[in-house]
Amino acid sequence: MARADLPPAPQLDWAFFLDVDGTLIDIADTPEAVHVDAALLALIARLHRASGGAVALVSGRALSFMQRRLGRLRLPLAGQHGLERRDAKGRMHVRRAPPGAKRAIKRALTPILARHPGLLLEDKGLTLALHYRLAPQLAAYAHRLMRQLAAAAGAGLELQRGKRVAEIKPRGIDKGAAITAFLAEPPFKGRRPVFIGDDLNDEHGFAAVNRLHGISIKVGSGRSCARFRLRDVAAVRTWLGAALKAGD
Ligand SMILES: [Mg+2]
Repeated sequence: MARADLPPAPQLDWAFFLDVDGTLIDIADTPEAVHVDAALLALIARLHRASGGAVALVSGRALSFMQRRLGRLRLPLAGQHGLERRDAKGRMHVRRAPPGAKRAIKRALTPILARHPGLLLEDKGLTLALHYRLAPQLAAYAHRLMRQLAAAAGAGLELQRGKRVAEIKPRGIDKGAAITAFLAEPPFKGRRPVFIGDDLNDEHGFAAVNRLHGISIKVGSGRSCARFRLRDVAAVRTWLGAALKAGD
């Protein structure tokens, strides 16, 4: 990775927005298989404390899944690409899908999942994610299928593409919207935003942060509107750790 792409040293008076899978932890073969290690929990807890609470996780995961992995650590969280958000005061903000649409899509997928055991459907609550990590040859099929099902449901739904996943979600809310909402509230308000992510759905977050002259950081290679790059999960952790060293 070119040196010019490396982000400037992090500052504790910034607002930190962090994707989780592929950014803070390595991606596992199945969504349930991820492991959040004690070193990461300690790093995030220290950064949260040292920055005056200005750390939020912004993930495609369900919020309840993230909280289970965080244990006793309470943070502002945005789950399911911002459709559910727990603000710094602990208040919940939830955008629901049109009732009935999800049931119909699941019904349509049932025989297809039976035919293709490599396809894995994850019902996150507000979104439906079709994972094909175990059957990469079905990538084009999975995206076409989910696009058609979203269009057929015809009720304000859209397809969100990701790494080895095609996901149907309500239209109009994304990670950029979640970051913008956090930035309207303390302790994020008035700070320079940083967003780190690795996937297509993170592009909305990069664009929002770029508009605010913040620091957008893409993890790994691939096209992105992010202004800076970090090589991998280990590089992200080292970079975040530098904020704490600077504050010692
Ligand atoms: Mg990710």
